[in-house]
Amino acid sequence: MSIEIHPAVASCLRGFEVPDRLGFGTVMAPVMFRARCQDGCWSTGELVPYGPLALDPAAKVLHYAQSCFEGMKAYRTRDGGVSLFRPERNAARMAHSAERLCMPPVPESLFMEGVRTVTAYCANLVPASSGESLYLRPFLLGTQPDLSVSASASYEFYVIASPSEAYHAGNMRLWVEREDSRAAVGGTGDSKVGGNYAASLLSIARLKKRGYDQSLWLNPGNRRTVDELSGMNFFAVIDGELHTPALSGSILEGVTRDSLITLARELGYTVRELDIDIEELLARVRDGSCSEAFACGTAAIVSPISVLGDDNGEYLLSSVPGPVAVCLREALLDIQEGRAEDRFGWMRPVEVVDINDQ
Ligand SMILES: *Cc1c(COP(=O)(O)O)cnc(C)c1O
Repeated sequence: MSIEIHPAVASCLRGFEVPDRLGFGTVMAPVMFRARCQDGCWSTGELVPYGPLALDPAAKVLHYAQSCFEGMKAYRTRDGGVSLFRPERNAARMAHSAERLCMPPVPESLFMEGVRTVTAYCANLVPASSGESLYLRPFLLGTQPDLSVSASASYEFYVIASPSEAYHAGNMRLWVEREDSRAAVGGTGDSKVGGNYAASLLSIARLKKRGYDQSLWLNPGNRRTVDELSGMNFFAVIDGELHTPALSGSILEGVTRDSLITLARELGYTVRELDIDIEELLARVRDGSCSEAFACGTAAIVSPISVLGDDNGEYLLSSVPGPVAVCLREALLDIQEGRAEDRFGWMRPVEVVDINDQ
């Protein structure tokens, strides 16, 4: 597959200075990848200067939410190189999300070309401190300017990038959300779509007023078993075993979740994917047999949970951060940052482009 590099890309990159303070997802790399799809036919990919999109106000994405996205990272490894972490998983998940919303999946080769090209050209922007990375945000949207309710005939795929610190979620206080649902089984709960996030915001705004940080979403069908957080999967250590909710149809299958399950088993933990009844979980936290809980995702990696709260009061985790969370976070980062052998074949080194040769 060929790719077009816009003539201004090299000067955009040369003129860009990475600020001292990065934060998460606020500093944007000065270039982005773009490809278009018309009637099922994909264009050649292009690397172009970062800038606003031109969308017709009637574009279907703005009215009927035909859009999905991914979140992934390029890491600076110990040998000075740059690597992507399990990007094929993100390509496959984005194809799944796209199909759910009746959008043409981005072919894996085009997806990989997009994330590799942005990473290759932005290699100098990949920060080197542990926990920092180049956060990549691929997204796909339906652009046909037409208010009829039907799938768009035209789409645009972008990859933007942001040199970032780890997303600091801190020791999180979770509110057990018993009223609203984030997403439905049979709906878009297992797809990475913006609408799921939009549906989570009111709950988060309410619980912030009560002094909490994040919602703990229950299964929308039974309102009894734990699903996940708005953008992170959930784990609890119960009687020394690692428990995480089985994929219920309304849980987004995290790449971090899968990686931690693999690492935990390698480290000798018993890992169970099962239904976690919220009342039983709260009782286990209260009697101490649930010693720690944490959330995980690409952005925040592993985030310890300090408190679960509901109308009956607060349930305090005894160990924050707990030893299992600390150990798994380290084991994952050791692979991602090249300190440990890539024994599961997860890392995809990227051949860097020197913009001064352009
Ligand atoms: C992205 C996301 C996650 C985490 O997935 P990772 O692949 O580990 O980053 C978890 N839950 C939801 C709802 C998400 O959107």
